[in-house]
Amino acid sequence: MRVIVVNSGSSSIKYETFDLATLSAASKGLLERIGTQDSRLKHRRLDPSGKWEEINETRPISDHREGFSFILEVSARSRSGSEMAEIFGVGHRVVHGGEKFREPAIIDDAALGAIEELIPLAPLHNPANVTGIKVMRDLLPRVPQVAVFDTAFHQTMPPRAFHYALPAEFYRSFGVRRYGFHGTSHQYVAGAAARHLGRPLAKLNLITLHLGNGASAAAVEKGKSIDTSMGLTPLEGLIMGTRSGDIDPAVHFYLQRKTGRPFGEIEDILNKESGLKGICGMNDMREIQKRAREGDGRAELAFEMFCYRVKKYIGAYYAALGTVDATVFTGGIGENSALVRSRTCEGLSGLGITLDENANSAAAGGIREIQTEESRVKVLVIPTNEEHEIARQTVEVIGKAKGQKQ
Ligand code: AMP
Repeated sequence: MRVIVVNSGSSSIKYETFDLATLSAASKGLLERIGTQDSRLKHRRLDPSGKWEEINETRPISDHREGFSFILEVSARSRSGSEMAEIFGVGHRVVHGGEKFREPAIIDDAALGAIEELIPLAPLHNPANVTGIKVMRDLLPRVPQVAVFDTAFHQTMPPRAFHYALPAEFYRSFGVRRYGFHGTSHQYVAGAAARHLGRPLAKLNLITLHLGNGASAAAVEKGKSIDTSMGLTPLEGLIMGTRSGDIDPAVHFYLQRKTGRPFGEIEDILNKESGLKGICGMNDMREIQKRAREGDGRAELAFEMFCYRVKKYIGAYYAALGTVDATVFTGGIGENSALVRSRTCEGLSGLGITLDENANSAAAGGIREIQTEESRVKVLVIPTNEEHEIARQTVEVIGKAKGQKQ
């Protein structure tokens, strides 16, 4: 039997199927450009010899319903039998679970209604997630569906970490508070770190750094998130590919007065034209490192600012945690850029963090330790796997629900 993991975006659907018994990936794919004449599906499946076989198809797909049908059709065609009959459950990535969802949830009408009610908090993401859920429920009515929330892992933050210093009424009336995102990734790497270190997660203090085009840090105390850098929205915190991260909120008003642009445009600039791209015109860290090496001052500044911000958060979360067992780097930049890891950890020996530069720059995949022998704090590089974590949680939640029914 299979578990399907679905990440439904506004014009794309990303999916991966896992073998139920082993939770190893069996097929995966991406349908892009939904709503156009040339929607493209790239479907890959593991053939019996263990090789990935790729199918590429282009056809007009007008909406998500057609998109999901297309994916199920291609999946079924690429297997000997009907894939539909073998599906144990579907796990949906949902960006915002608000305060309502502290854990993944079986999707019934009430849960779906609650996710829809959260749309104002994530107007760019939750609507597409809801569409994906509705269509898959229609297409596979007998298959249990589970929502796994990006925010849920951070719902253990204490009030002192999640409140903003604003009039209390804004929290009560509008839910203005820190929620945090990338929770599935932080949770996955925290669990993988514990397994790697051979210690119970409930006894570990970790600083997890998800550094990709979107980036966030989390302080994980005894396995639970006690603080994280993203806030009401994913705009707060670290410098990202195109998002500013932390800035003085007065900048918005100052810019509005100076430029006369409406707040909607300024919000767009902070989300889409800022961060690394705003500083140096590029948001791809590989390109930035290359240009910095060639002497491009703006690229150098972007690189330095990015690493400096991460370092400040390591310091802050060290203080929040008191003791730290390991710092974990993950995400496209965290996993692949030895230079970012090196600069970020530079000068942290006072905190017991020292990198072994040879281990750091060795080209290796998988989980690895990159600290020196003397380093009190372990420094780990762990490839994230959000889809796997969603599949694991989906199986767990469905298993629990079935157990309760019996
Ligand atoms: P993600 O959003 O997690 O896919 O990460 C995307 C980011 O990872 C982009 O900024 C890429 O440039 C960056 N990245 C991927 N590989 C490398 C690499 N080898 N060195 C530096 N940055 C990388």
